[in-house]
Amino acid sequence: MIQLRHISKSFGRQQVLKSIDLTVNQGDVVVILGPSGSGKTTLLRCINYLEKPSGGEIAIGDFRLNCGRATKKDIHALRQKSAMVFQQYNLFRHKTALENVMEGLVIVKKQPKEEAKARSIALLEKVGLGSKLDAYPSQLSGGQQQRVGIARALALEPEVILFDEPTSALDPELVGEVLEVIRKIAKEGITMIVVTHEMGFARDVANHAVFMDGGVIVEEGSPAELLYHPREERTKQFLKRIT
Ligand code: ADP
Repeated sequence: MIQLRHISKSFGRQQVLKSIDLTVNQGDVVVILGPSGSGKTTLLRCINYLEKPSGGEIAIGDFRLNCGRATKKDIHALRQKSAMVFQQYNLFRHKTALENVMEGLVIVKKQPKEEAKARSIALLEKVGLGSKLDAYPSQLSGGQQQRVGIARALALEPEVILFDEPTSALDPELVGEVLEVIRKIAKEGITMIVVTHEMGFARDVANHAVFMDGGVIVEEGSPAELLYHPREERTKQFLKRIT
């Protein structure tokens, strides 16, 4: 369903991604693990062209894009297929929770306002925020803001949701509520790629785990294999440091 081939990315002279190949199947929950600076966030951002890859190919469904030759139209089409949930939520500060979720439906998907509103309310209810429709981000906790971010991503009905360390900006007591929402939508079969340091989440929710270091995928496999029986020395060292 998603196929990355030879994805590379350099910032100046620093090569941050070195010919990454990754296949994600429909309904997969893939976690990307690895030390800070290994290229996890950059890889995620390349998948929807928030960063322009230096080379390689991205395929989502039957849409295929060659990063060397992508036109604006290609990039627009690619972006329609994924939605990102950011570490810092990235909500519009001057819009309510409801308006934040509606925005993409009205502006990007050109849905009539009433329809967009009904759908956004349903999604906010789904993430447990039915009573906060009119709250502004400043009136919400970090966990609530992130749940608005998740509702906003769901609203776009993307083929894949990309989560960039969705709980790392949260106070520890708020992490659980956000992971619970992600777990719930994972169960519905939505394809997702999650960059995270939450090993419990990786073990319990993901069906595929990828370990990155130094801009390459060092190894990948089932979460149980990767976490408890890593093959590669670099993976073993990483797991030793964080547990
Ligand atoms: P991770 O998510 O694994 O912590 P990142 O993808 O954020 O790693 O970063 C990988 C490397 O790329 C780091 O060395 C980082 O400093 C560098 N990097 C990331 N974004 C930029 C940027 N916009 N400009 C220059 N260097 C960047």
